[in-house]
Amino acid sequence: MSDRLLIDQVLAGNPTAVARAISRVERGGTIARDTIRAIFSHSGRAHIVGVTGAPGTGKSTLVNELAKEFRRRRGQVAIIAVDPSSPFTGGAILGDRLRMQDLTGTGIFIRSMATRGYLGGLAAAVADALVVLDAAGFDPIIVETVGAGQGEVDIAKNAHTTVVLEAPGFGDDIQAIKAGILEIADVLVVNKADREGANRTAAALEMNLSFNKDEGAQAWRPPVLKTIALKGEGVTAVADAIEKHRAFLGEHGLRESKERARIEDELVNVLQRELVARALDVATPQRIADLIERVASRELDVYSAAEQVLGKFDGRRPTKDAGQV
Ligand code: GDP
Repeated sequence: MSDRLLIDQVLAGNPTAVARAISRVERGGTIARDTIRAIFSHSGRAHIVGVTGAPGTGKSTLVNELAKEFRRRRGQVAIIAVDPSSPFTGGAILGDRLRMQDLTGTGIFIRSMATRGYLGGLAAAVADALVVLDAAGFDPIIVETVGAGQGEVDIAKNAHTTVVLEAPGFGDDIQAIKAGILEIADVLVVNKADREGANRTAAALEMNLSFNKDEGAQAWRPPVLKTIALKGEGVTAVADAIEKHRAFLGEHGLRESKERARIEDELVNVLQRELVARALDVATPQRIADLIERVASRELDVYSAAEQVLGKFDGRRPTKDAGQV
């Protein structure tokens, strides 16, 4: 498929072309940049929903049910399942295959992304994949991440609506509070409500919310909802809460400010990558090896070594691909 044809097919919402374009942006470098450049002006319409929570809380189960619910509401739904612990990409792991089977024939697009192979970092790869899906007309796009490391929290935080998932049975600890992700929640879900302790978990979340949030009329108070994702129970209410939050953002001009915060993050991220790539491109491997030796022998400190590289750096375009660093 020619580049132009691929772009046209992406903009027409063709799932095969979308999958191929995401593979391109995952590779990073020139090919990723060209793909994003060609479609970027068509993006910016989709509502991005982040779903995060500790492993085993039922994220995959809930996200699948939620996607089906939005599909019934006539959305062109896409899911990006981010699993930083997985060494595989492209749906090679068993759990992924099972959940994809569950979605077969539903018209829901699903893509797994793992850490391996993203030279610009996982967050950048996810951001680029979101542009592809958005330009292809998917709306909403659900990004599912494990609420563990800072990187995953950043990905979830940059969604328009962030759903934080909790489940009873992790002892007395509320994982979301422990992981410090309660602050980013727009909707709180206690899944596995069929289990003992769900009410207690919900009450603990409510209590912590009242400590964390302002009570002004302008403020969004995150609802605490209970679900049994395994049976699809309570999923409609979660979808309703997401729609309500989407409307709230629109009414208060908050969508624009969220967009700008996200763009700022991405711009800084791209600048960091590009500048490091360009600075390193100026220094030959021999020069770097020489500097390492001088630091090792304590002739130079690392800051002075970095200064020496930057002294030769004039910000010009690299000769080799920035994505390769
Ligand atoms: P994830 O690791 O957060 O993505 O969690 P999964 O969606 O893979 O779910 C973990 C386990 O919990 C699976 O065995 C699910 O079948 C089960 N599970 C999911 N939702 C529910 C629920 O509402 N009730 C019960 N009892 N089990 C559930």
